[in-house]
Amino acid sequence: MSDPLDRSTIWPYDERGERRDFYYQRFGSPTVAAAEAALGELDGGTALLFPSGAGATTALVLSQLRQGDTIALAAGGYYGTPVLFAAFAPWGLRVVEFDQTGPPPDEVQLVWLEAPSNPYLTMPDLEAAAARPAPVVVDATVATPIHFRPLEHGADFVLHSATKYLAGHDDVQLGAVVCRDDSAAEKLRTFRGNTGIVAAPDAAWLLLRGLKTLDVRVRRQSETAAFLAERMREHPAVDTVRYPGLGGLLSFDVADAETARKVETSTHVIVNATSLGGVTTLIESRRRWEGERVPAGLLRLSVGLEDPEILWADLEQALSS
Ligand code: PLP
Repeated sequence: MSDPLDRSTIWPYDERGERRDFYYQRFGSPTVAAAEAALGELDGGTALLFPSGAGATTALVLSQLRQGDTIALAAGGYYGTPVLFAAFAPWGLRVVEFDQTGPPPDEVQLVWLEAPSNPYLTMPDLEAAAARPAPVVVDATVATPIHFRPLEHGADFVLHSATKYLAGHDDVQLGAVVCRDDSAAEKLRTFRGNTGIVAAPDAAWLLLRGLKTLDVRVRRQSETAAFLAERMREHPAVDTVRYPGLGGLLSFDVADAETARKVETSTHVIVNATSLGGVTTLIESRRRWEGERVPAGLLRLSVGLEDPEILWADLEQALSS
């Protein structure tokens, strides 16, 4: 059955002139609330939706931290996160990067992990991070709640770019924060309403629809990714394969930037585009975005729902082109 979509920005007060649950869209709306309830259940916390993953990151950081505070950020994670944090430097936000497979540094006010990191595919030592006093955020965009529920392992917040696996079809930009603690969720909800960094009903509706197939999509993508990682490890043109054993994302290195460009532009089924988590398999050289942060020949592959043998045949011909 399809969920209702309510695009209204206003709802009438009750007969006594008091506010009901919904009165003005910026402070909450039924379709957004329904999608939040569905995601909250999957992650085991209180979910709040934002217009993008970056918007969710912005709201979480600005609502949690003060001028002069420091974030310990997992190195080798989504490159847009340090870029975003750098935009807050004029307001006194500091960032130290660390290896998330070990404990975070002391004397920080927030720890930011990524499970698994994009595109290095390391898994964080969440136990070590949770043992420290600072609140812990896990960006679990790539793992999804199908593979990893960080709130059950000591995280305070889960962040998702719902643009990716959760919505799953490359047709909606959306972000989410899932909070372990109700009072933290209320604080973030108030901040969201006041700043207006809030998701629209149409986007939330697409998330609701995507979540219905999340489990089957992610399991199939993970199986295919594991299969392709294994094949790739045996291929003479591939130097390093990074695959953490879960999820639909992997990365691998070819000889150099020129070879990487050749491979990404030689596929026929696999699309040469950015992003990840959709039903279509995507490949791209990350050098174009991340520069020296990644090896020159690093290619990121987001595995979709196509036939695994067809995907391997496409990759194999591109690798030998
Ligand atoms: N976190 C991760 C791991 C991502 O890969 C991305 C986008 O690629 C984001 C956050 C940001 O999400 P959005 O593009 O929805 O703002």
